[in-house]
Amino acid sequence: MSGLVLEKIDKHFGSVVALSDVRLEIAHGQFVCLLGPSGCGKTTLLRIIAGLEAPSAGRVLLDAEEITEQAVHKRGFGMVFQSLALFPHLTVGENIAYGLKVRGLAKPEQDARVAELLELVRLPGLAARHIAQLSGGQRQRIAIARALALKPKLFLLDEPLSALDAKLREEMQIELRLLQQQLGITTIVVTHDQREAMTMADLVVVMGDNRVQQVGAPLDIYRRPVNRFVADFIGTSNLIPGRLREGGVEVAGARLAVAEVGPGLAEGGEASLCIRPEEVRLLAAGEAGANRLPGRISFVRDLGATVEISLDCAGTQVLCLTMPEQHGQFRQGGTVTVELPAAACLALAP
Ligand code: ATP
Repeated sequence: MSGLVLEKIDKHFGSVVALSDVRLEIAHGQFVCLLGPSGCGKTTLLRIIAGLEAPSAGRVLLDAEEITEQAVHKRGFGMVFQSLALFPHLTVGENIAYGLKVRGLAKPEQDARVAELLELVRLPGLAARHIAQLSGGQRQRIAIARALALKPKLFLLDEPLSALDAKLREEMQIELRLLQQQLGITTIVVTHDQREAMTMADLVVVMGDNRVQQVGAPLDIYRRPVNRFVADFIGTSNLIPGRLREGGVEVAGARLAVAEVGPGLAEGGEASLCIRPEEVRLLAAGEAGANRLPGRISFVRDLGATVEISLDCAGTQVLCLTMPEQHGQFRQGGTVTVELPAAACLALAP
């Protein structure tokens, strides 16, 4: 296949298993986020793709050509890492032009390319500034411009926005995504922030326990997590313990139908019913029907834009997310009917 292919990648550091059996195919032009909690192997995987680390087993291919052993500088990839490593004694323009100069590009051409890149990262006219005179967000943009100077085949970024405050970070996520769409460059970003991954990626690679847990478009992963780990890591999920019964999940004495039964489940065995809080519906007490349970409201958290309602359904805790205009009738201590629509329910291995 054309694009980047990772075949059965393992990586050990002594007795530490950093990556186990990672298989991945990334087509040209995609924006991919490697997402997972601390220590799951994201950085190690990015470093293997970059050529900064050799895998213990497995192969890396780019456009069907094996590059597992190829030196970093021969790969022609652009990289931005957590520590930006901009040269503090050089100007913005000199920083961006660094790679161009090493390649022997003539000065007028360097200047033209620097101007073009500054335009691209929305900092026109800043070439003569010193790095120390820039804000955190501006430095980040300069690091990105520098990495793009040589028109890399792959653009690799490790937690590029983690040093920025929350608001700037969200702005930069959108900016980075728009920039990538404009250039069409295959981009791989490491992040532990699921909102960041959902904002930017065409393809999210959820990693956990040093393996790939699920690969897919952000919304597919959100709607159809393959296991509890993914359901819990991406957004908020109700994971209600029960047992698999006739293709549904038995919870608090009631059999609830589900849209899908995940792998590794057996009839009569333990199963978790997974449903997103915004899919849970509240009705007046006593409104019997399919996939409904009687419940009591244990807490109402009114956050202004949304309202979170915690429910107790015969000892089972369920969280419901609703809109302010809908919750007036539901008060702490009140009894309700809780509907878990089958189309929004999954049965997952516990
Ligand atoms: P974080 O989000 O905290 O950066 P990560 O998902 O990027 O985490 P890695 O940095 O890839 O995780 O580390 C994966 C595992 O490999 C961890 O257990 C880590 O301690 C271990 N590890 C990484 N690099 C080395 C090394 N050079 N020597 C020994 N162990 C290492």
